[in-house]
Amino acid sequence: MNYCSECGERVRVRVPEGDSLPRHVCDACGTIHYQNPKIVVGCIPEWEDRILLCRRAIEPRYGLWTLPAGFMENGETVQQGAARETLEEARARVEIGALYTLFNLPHINQVYMLFRSRLLDADFGPGAESLEVELLDESQIPWDDIAFPVIRESLLLYYQDRARGDFPLRSGDIVRVDGPPRRVEVQMHKPGVIRAATP
Ligand code: ZN
Repeated sequence: MNYCSECGERVRVRVPEGDSLPRHVCDACGTIHYQNPKIVVGCIPEWEDRILLCRRAIEPRYGLWTLPAGFMENGETVQQGAARETLEEARARVEIGALYTLFNLPHINQVYMLFRSRLLDADFGPGAESLEVELLDESQIPWDDIAFPVIRESLLLYYQDRARGDFPLRSGDIVRVDGPPRRVEVQMHKPGVIRAATP
């Protein structure tokens, strides 16, 4: 950010008085432009023993498979956002169920919330952001072509839990580790244990 969206003057990055982190600050009008993490909402649409996956028609990860998910919009709930994204990307109508995975992705300032959901009918198809949309059973999941680590991890957990017949809330952190670019590590939280706030 270079210019203030309130008055058009140049902003600079500094720690405002009484704050502890650097922010984009406009000294002309006094506005502090806070930037906070974005919430990504989506779901695992179920139909009998299959789930719905979308192949991406957009960057990043063009051509790879993912669950319907996207940025939450102002004025909606996380459940409404998950259902809206499913309608937009897969032209599918779902009943949103329980929250299933919650992942922090601090290296890209995102929080993912994925719900289990039930397809209301088998009428679906690719939306503008998808090349194709398919109902797949476990043996058909393209594990080597999943677009994002958070989606791959959620699907791995889903099939483990489905085999046990129980779907508790799974939460964890996906963190970048040193080494080759884009390498990340999954650190699951222990059930019922609140993770310490300090890194
Ligand atoms: Zn300003």
